[in-house]
Amino acid sequence: MQVNLLKVTAFVNGKIYTSFKPLRAVRGLVVAGERVLFAGDDAKALRIARELGGEIIDLRGRTAIPGFVDAHVHLDSLGLSLITLDLRGVSSIEELRQRIRLYIERNPDVDVVIGRGWDQELFAEKRWPTRWDIDDVTGGKPAILIRVCGHAALLNTRALEETGLADVRSPYIVRRADGEPTGIVKEEFVKQAMDRLGARKRLLAQSIDRAQRFAAKYGVTEVGFVSCDIDAFRTLLKKWRRGELLIRVRAYLEPSSFDEMRRFLAPGFGDEYLRVTGLKIILDGSLGARTAWLSEPYNDDPSVQGAPLLDYGELKEIVGRALDGGYQVAIHAIGDAALDWVLKLYKELEVKPDDRARIEHVSVVRPEQLKEIARLGAVAVVQPHFIITDWWVVKRVGRERASWVYAFRSMIEIGIKTAFSTDAPVEPLDPFLTLHAAVTRGSDEGVELWKLTPHEAVDVREALHSYTHGSSYALCDDYAGRLEPGSYGDLVVLSNDPLEVEPRSLRDIRVLETYIGGKLVYASE
Ligand code: ZN
Repeated sequence: MQVNLLKVTAFVNGKIYTSFKPLRAVRGLVVAGERVLFAGDDAKALRIARELGGEIIDLRGRTAIPGFVDAHVHLDSLGLSLITLDLRGVSSIEELRQRIRLYIERNPDVDVVIGRGWDQELFAEKRWPTRWDIDDVTGGKPAILIRVCGHAALLNTRALEETGLADVRSPYIVRRADGEPTGIVKEEFVKQAMDRLGARKRLLAQSIDRAQRFAAKYGVTEVGFVSCDIDAFRTLLKKWRRGELLIRVRAYLEPSSFDEMRRFLAPGFGDEYLRVTGLKIILDGSLGARTAWLSEPYNDDPSVQGAPLLDYGELKEIVGRALDGGYQVAIHAIGDAALDWVLKLYKELEVKPDDRARIEHVSVVRPEQLKEIARLGAVAVVQPHFIITDWWVVKRVGRERASWVYAFRSMIEIGIKTAFSTDAPVEPLDPFLTLHAAVTRGSDEGVELWKLTPHEAVDVREALHSYTHGSSYALCDDYAGRLEPGSYGDLVVLSNDPLEVEPRSLRDIRVLETYIGGKLVYASE
């Protein structure tokens, strides 16, 4: 008979924060299997490890904290962005060839080559590239290399054949004088080529692998995978079954995939590594594109105020069905008018704090709406790094409404369950960039929003709490985000103590080691 021994690991001689609210630090921690068995003094941690025959890791006085939980990540798009060949700044067709060659060498597992960012204006040869320039370096795989603008792409011969675009007659399929297509396609044929190659789907398994290794590297031990579609979900299931999930994933499916998933899975499915948590719906757009739905027109374009992407009846039907089925719901609402609908809906459906009904982004929020979110016990899932990226936001909403934007401190003070996240790849996954943004609120970058609303900066301990316990609450996971007995043994060892550095230095903190369930999943060189 085979015996599976529980792996026991003791971490000693550390400064280990087990929780940020209340603030608690210990020197010793013992993890048995997935869970923390003991958090307390060194001597006892050592005794337990010796008694159980466990491994002992000396932290040599370094700081460790619970693994970061990122409540809102697009794991598939993040992975795809990591797997894409970066062609920005390529200065010749010869260099283009070299970059492809190197990529093929380093990524032998990839079955389609996707590149992005080339610009023929920068090429020494002063001409557009053709498929004949790249055929011999693409390793026999189909390749699609998208121009920096996204409106043109170069396909190699294999991709041209697989997509059938060689036979399409259009001025957007560029041909030589003798009629042979050169491999350059433009406008709608760029997307068509991606679709016909099934590029995203063929790279899903590799994308998710890259994304989870990348997360481990940044100390992110659990994610809410939002807008997960059925293909991505099936890929996750396959990995889960093979024990290939490195980080913990909580999946929020988009509506049609959610219905499909329900045909073969029952609510409550999952274990420590993979769980289907619920449904994700997008109700409005973004402030950048002026498609977020505001209650008053945009300050910098009074002719628009955004609009909802579905009608209220439809929204109510989809959300009601998910809640009745025992699932959690997450609704994207960036503008305050979209938020009005979500709050009305949650009230009509009588959501309880236990439902942990999520609202994604909550970017523009009026004071009375803050009270209503708190009253309903809904969870605000926010992305503090938007403060830096949306440096223009005051122009969009005007100075009057600036106090309604990214009102993180007010949310926390009024008692709203607040979860931090990045929306990666929309914002960088690095938690220290998010912490820096939440704590300094753009003062280091001099963004206008900080000048008008410095009081909305969050203190570092609150920020760490929202990024660990707060976000695990949003994922309906009561075992992540802390290192108390019974919690997951997910911890990250840091180059510095975030509670002791100057706020501006938060973004320089590095992850040295990441442990998930007591197992080392990343170590810096
Ligand atoms: Zn998102």
